[in-house]
Amino acid sequence: IARATPGVQGLQPYVPGKPAQELERELGLTDIIKLASNENPLGPSPVALAAAQQALAELHLYPDASGYRLKQALQQHYGLSPDCITLGNGSNDVLELIARAFLRPGDEVVYSQYAFLVYPIITQASSATAVVTEARDWGHDLDAMLAAVTERTRLVFIANPNNPTGTWLSRAQLCAFMDALPVSVVLVLDEAYTEYSEDPDFPDGLELLARYPNLVVTRTFSKAWGLAGLRVGFAAANREITDLLNRVRQPFNVSGPALAAAEAVLQDRAYLARTLETNRAGMRQLIDGLKRLGLAVIPSAGNFVCVGLGRPAGPVYQQLLERGVIVRPVANYQMPDHLRISIGLLAQNLRCLQVLEEVLSA
Ligand code: PMP
Repeated sequence: IARATPGVQGLQPYVPGKPAQELERELGLTDIIKLASNENPLGPSPVALAAAQQALAELHLYPDASGYRLKQALQQHYGLSPDCITLGNGSNDVLELIARAFLRPGDEVVYSQYAFLVYPIITQASSATAVVTEARDWGHDLDAMLAAVTERTRLVFIANPNNPTGTWLSRAQLCAFMDALPVSVVLVLDEAYTEYSEDPDFPDGLELLARYPNLVVTRTFSKAWGLAGLRVGFAAANREITDLLNRVRQPFNVSGPALAAAEAVLQDRAYLARTLETNRAGMRQLIDGLKRLGLAVIPSAGNFVCVGLGRPAGPVYQQLLERGVIVRPVANYQMPDHLRISIGLLAQNLRCLQVLEEVLSA
């Protein structure tokens, strides 16, 4: 049998949670709530659902390999030229395309401690070398990241807001970083949660593209747009980078229903507004409740909060699970005392808080 590359052999497989239905059967519960994957708690936009259903009539056909209509819709919505867009099967897919296009064995990739799990996977799978800088206040230490850049550095990954911590960088911080970064290094700015931010100083990566030729912005339809199950995201960058990414992209990487639903949901302003309002109220409720329990909450600009329990989070996670509340342990991010909780509907947040209080006081 052929041997995989050393990079691939060194990887740990991703361990997914059990499906909620399976857990309900196992635990004899009927009302499990899942606040673990930063999904949209409202369910899908009805407009997107109708478009996906209609697209199913063509499931015997390959989807449009260029994603023509979705790119037109993205142009209308964000002012992005279609030749600056690379569509992906979720933004994970475009992150992987970026690694495939840019990384050779031995190249260096800089990202921060507590960074999104996909960055180490795609770095290592490319046999590139990860250079991980220490976090500052759970967020990015941009000075340390700049200091870590060498002539071997090809990529820097920054998620803004960051998963799992929820921390974020201001426009001024990000621009100062980009101004100091050599143009030979590509910054991948992962904006999976950008829609949720309420800070007036929060940067819009798409607006910065004209200023920085070495910037790639990734976005997803999985979070605020509520289409996680369909897998659609995109990268925005200058024409040259976009051309490279599209060379390594598989032609039919986004399905017909996904293309149709994404195109449709961009028109559903009411859904996005409801999503953001639900998140705002739920965030306030969860943070207040967690603080009342005496817990340390990391301020978050996303649709989740990361909370420090002051004790190992593994057993607490397990006991929440047994009581039908699924949250996310972040021990594999080297945060063994923290849990990440996605913002749900008010009733879900309330139940999560009640069960957490019960578990912590037991
Ligand atoms: N980036 C970040 C920071 C994320 O948290 C996620 C989802 N967990 C993704 C990218 C990928 O999302 P998707 O592939 O669903 O677009």
